[in-house]
Amino acid sequence: NSPKTWHEFDQYTTDKLISYDPVLENVLQTNAEEGLPSINVSPVEGKMLHMIASLSKAKNILEVGTLGGYSTIWLARALPDDGQLVSLEYSAKHAEVAKRNLKKARLDDKVEILIGAAIETFPQLPEKGFHDFDFVFIDADKQNNSRYVEEALKLSHPGTCIVVDNVVRNGAVLDSDHEDESVQGIRQMFDYLSDHPSIESTAIQTVGSKGYDGFLIAIVK
Ligand code: SAM
Repeated sequence: NSPKTWHEFDQYTTDKLISYDPVLENVLQTNAEEGLPSINVSPVEGKMLHMIASLSKAKNILEVGTLGGYSTIWLARALPDDGQLVSLEYSAKHAEVAKRNLKKARLDDKVEILIGAAIETFPQLPEKGFHDFDFVFIDADKQNNSRYVEEALKLSHPGTCIVVDNVVRNGAVLDSDHEDESVQGIRQMFDYLSDHPSIESTAIQTVGSKGYDGFLIAIVK
């Protein structure tokens, strides 16, 4: 049992359970060609997000952290015809690549990407017509995770599902003195959620092609 096995098992389950998808393959290829870091979710996690969004019957989805739109596509495919997804991305370059990928995936009519620091974009969402989210996926700068959950809560309703990626970071999150701001941001998020009166949450550790990490899943009460 080693990172090699985790990687091979992800490959095994991807081959068994996820149909070959030229659109998603093309997204990963385009991202690589454009020099984007390969920090997108894995195919098995992308499918999990898609399934949770489907189970939530999500019509309005918020994503924080677009990169090249890989997770965006998995999520947007769970939307009904009249659904919409808004994704917040700091990098204009990443957003430009994502927009191209979404167009090729024929999802550009359902997805809007807003460029800027997410914490500054959040207050603009209601006036742009984005609120009442049914599903939220947080996968950007981890130091702001707590604020993102807090902001997402303001735009949620009872039953809204919130998923936060990379909340384990190889176990580094256990270290209260860790100097990495991302680790401290994740710890602040756990503190914020601990005994929160209106959010029920749990966290799951995972191993796979992206190493040892995990995700948090929360439901607004
Ligand atoms: N969700 C994407 C996927 O699975 O395909 C991966 C997102 S990647 C892990 C994180 C993204 O968050 C990067 O594209 C990065 O530019 C963006 N980001 C970093 N800081 C941000 C901020 N303050 N506001 C919005 N986006 C930010």
